[in-house]
Amino acid sequence: MQTQQFDTLIIGFGKGGKTLANFLGNKGQKVSIVEQSKDMYGGTCINIACIPTKALALAAEHASSHHPNTHEEKQAYYESAIKEKQRLVTTLRQKNYDTLHNNPNVNVIDGLASFAAPTRYRSSSVIPRKCSRFRLKILSSIRAQSPMSPAYRVWKRVSVSTIARP
Ligand SMILES: Cc1cc2nc3c(=O)[nH]c(=O)nc-3n(C[C@H](O)[C@H](O)[C@H](O)COP(=O)(O)OP(=O)(O)OC[C@H]3O[C@@H](n4cnc5c(N)ncnc54)[C@H](O)[C@@H]3O)c2cc1C
Repeated sequence: MQTQQFDTLIIGFGKGGKTLANFLGNKGQKVSIVEQSKDMYGGTCINIACIPTKALALAAEHASSHHPNTHEEKQAYYESAIKEKQRLVTTLRQKNYDTLHNNPNVNVIDGLASFAAPTRYRSSSVIPRKCSRFRLKILSSIRAQSPMSPAYRVWKRVSVSTIARP
């Protein structure tokens, strides 16, 4: 078994997780942050929610102010809007990753995390890792039906930034 020691384990590279990881890393804590999808670095807001929805709404306003008539004209506006949205999201995702990756105290781990015991977690992408002295865990946007939910209910040291209730 691969053993790692760090001060804080954060599950979820979202708004809550990334902010805390950078803050604690800058204060000298050793932090590991686990994210289940490389397409979600930065979390829901920049990848699938706040930012892309506003970008598409703005593009729709811009398109309607030009009164496109034909199917081809509308299609061109739509394609351009999707392309611009992708460019924006990709840029922000990379910036978010770079910020944590360049923090010498923060370790970004790719994988779906779940708890094995109060001081151990496992990630789908790596050999189960043992963590023997972390003080705080953040489970970001976990769902009640997720494999982690029984764990966070019994461990008082778990903090949750967002819970999507069923
Ligand atoms: C359509 C929409 C529009 C929104 N617009 C706004 C807005 O304009 N302004 C605003 O302030 N807020 C907005 N929000 C809300 C905002 O997106 C959330 O408040 C914010 O994303 C919550 O941040 P978080 O860190 O708690 O979770 P998230 O950003 O959801 O991050 C959670 C991360 O954890 C990862 N994860 C989950 N489980 C695991 C696991 N077991 N192992 C590893 N990784 C895991 C996920 O992949 C995800 O990347 C909007 C939300 C939606 C849906």
